[in-house]
Amino acid sequence: MSTLDRVTVLGGGPAGLATALRLRNLRLAEEITVLDKQHPTASAGWGISLDDAALAVLDGIDPMAGARVRTAMHGWDTVSLCRGDEEVTASGSRLAAVTRDVFLRVLRQRCQDVGVRLEHAAADPEAAREQVRSADLVVGADGVNSQVRTAFAEDFRPRVALGANHYVWLAAESDRLRPCVLLRTTPYGTMFASVYPFAPGRFTFIVECGGPVWERSGLARKSADESLAVLRSVFAEDLGDGRLLAGTAGWSRFATVHNDRWHTAGAKAVLVGDAAHTAHFSVGLGTRLAVEDAAELGSCLARHDDRETALRAYEAARRVPVEEGQARAAESQAWFERCERYRHFPISQLAFSWRARQPTTTFARLRGMDPAFTERVCRALGGGPPTDGGEPVSVPFDFPAVRPGTSCSPCRVPSRTVHVLDDELARDPRLLGEPGPQEPAFPAGLVLAGRALLDGVAALAGLDTRTARPVEVDLRPLLRRLSAAAGNTATAVDRASAAVAAASRRTGSPVILRLEAEAVDAGRSTLAGRLVLDFVRAVADRGARAAVHLVPGPGERGTGDADGPGEALRLGLGASDLLRNEYRCPTVVTGPWTRDAANTAIGAGRVDLVGVLRRPGDGAGAPGGVADAAGTPAARDMRRETRKDRVTR
Ligand SMILES: Cc1cc2nc3c(=O)[nH]c(=O)nc-3n(C[C@H](O)[C@H](O)[C@H](O)COP(=O)(O)OP(=O)(O)OC[C@H]3O[C@@H](n4cnc5c(N)ncnc54)[C@H](O)[C@@H]3O)c2cc1C
Repeated sequence: MSTLDRVTVLGGGPAGLATALRLRNLRLAEEITVLDKQHPTASAGWGISLDDAALAVLDGIDPMAGARVRTAMHGWDTVSLCRGDEEVTASGSRLAAVTRDVFLRVLRQRCQDVGVRLEHAAADPEAAREQVRSADLVVGADGVNSQVRTAFAEDFRPRVALGANHYVWLAAESDRLRPCVLLRTTPYGTMFASVYPFAPGRFTFIVECGGPVWERSGLARKSADESLAVLRSVFAEDLGDGRLLAGTAGWSRFATVHNDRWHTAGAKAVLVGDAAHTAHFSVGLGTRLAVEDAAELGSCLARHDDRETALRAYEAARRVPVEEGQARAAESQAWFERCERYRHFPISQLAFSWRARQPTTTFARLRGMDPAFTERVCRALGGGPPTDGGEPVSVPFDFPAVRPGTSCSPCRVPSRTVHVLDDELARDPRLLGEPGPQEPAFPAGLVLAGRALLDGVAALAGLDTRTARPVEVDLRPLLRRLSAAAGNTATAVDRASAAVAAASRRTGSPVILRLEAEAVDAGRSTLAGRLVLDFVRAVADRGARAAVHLVPGPGERGTGDADGPGEALRLGLGASDLLRNEYRCPTVVTGPWTRDAANTAIGAGRVDLVGVLRRPGDGAGAPGGVADAAGTPAARDMRRETRKDRVTR
């Protein structure tokens, strides 16, 4: 056990108070002081959602604090997505929230009960500085803009990335509201609010919008009161006679924090909570991570005599779950930042895409939570309800195959999910071993192989394949040539797209552009991305019917994960989403799909068709169709079990 004379905790938010309580309850220090620069009544923020796991950790730190927070929790099970006067609800969320102020008051009271000193640092800055100087250990719990992190930046090596959207954390008092996400169209673009209750009739109300909307609406230049007045009018119908209340914080962009190390050389200072890492608020995870840090830091200091060893053990134990949470949060944040792309989706599909924005919230999981919700999604996408063993999701091809403004009629394809087996990839001996009869990878699905891939994509582009055979153009060599022509890429793109479009017109065939997902994933921020996107647009502009087939690049043919598309498909999905939903170009993504991942991606409108890669030893009847190298089906089930109780906001 590391015994410490004096510990100074900088920051009296959830992380700082929980850490002080933990260290005190474990009797790890003679004197523990929490210094906060703000007066306790000035706490920013309204309600915070906490899941069962967070409460269990709090119980472990201090059972009395856990019990008191529980009595103040306010729960709900149903969430809605509202756009205009359309609304879709889904149940099974099992969520609960508490007033942040109440949560902090409970922790502060318990700290005082057990002898932690709570001080208001700003009252005497010199005394506060002395406290820090003379402490054995400084705990940096001073939030997202941590000064401890800045002071020891060489040790921590922090990276802070700002999100694209602007948000403001408000509260609403209304008897009309319910837990939901509201999408409201304004003359400046879409604004949305994430709304959830934290007490009867009281709701957290986080308003978000993209930078251009924020600028155009004038919110960027308005005072807090003026800004509140604008938002009251945007959400007037939702609020009814209710009130919108401002907090102490104004508009910001969410800062995602990572640190290479969480403690300093010499083990003088250690980071906890938002000072160490942040996770976008749309997954409601930050407070849980903060109390988990506190619990683990205490355990490690209790377990190891040497402080350096203890802090290293703390970081080793926390890094994986924290980074996993941050990855989920990043996907959720990205959905809100891309949301404009999905605005035109049928409302059920929009709701599904919102619910499935975290990689762990798949079609199967959402069906388990609320079968009526997924059934509604399936019906809206043109298929029947899910049946045992049947493919639940139909293909949502109800947008024009080429860019709006051209004369092509909307494409219509069969209303069943179509799985495409890519012939070239399927021939790759590293993937399939000995060639043999090609069993359907999904027993109940339709698997197209060989030439059928082209027919599948042609159907996607709305062509009658009896009269026109589609032409697949492998864009990769072309891209290499175009990249080499740097400096005059516009002309090169123009010439190449004209040639492809002319060939398509001559033969009456649709063009299928084959390329590696990586080239598109970074969007227009890379030369390759710009070339591909300009090329796709130029081909469509010239009247050729185009679809894009995204294949994994070398070294990207990993496995899909049973709970999500996995890293190998992440790039493909990102690129496909951009091409399909911004460039209006139908897409096929080939990769190691599982059945659940495919249904999730198709249901969420991120891809039109999927090409299923199988690997040696994959049985046709294997659950999910594709084996998971990371474990057996049993291991996957276990992983699913451990993830079951995660918050799904
Ligand atoms: C809009 C929004 C909604 C959220 N909703 C949820 C949710 O529903 N559920 C959830 O779990 N999480 C939510 N979070 C995240 C959650 O609020 C944070 O992850 C959590 O508060 C982190 O706790 P912390 O103690 O590390 O930091 P903070 O809560 O930020 O506390 C830091 C404390 O340090 C003090 N401080 C700062 N600088 C100094 C200094 N130099 N000296 C002394 N004191 C200092 C501050 O006054 C503050 O009291 C949300 C976040 C946002 C932005």
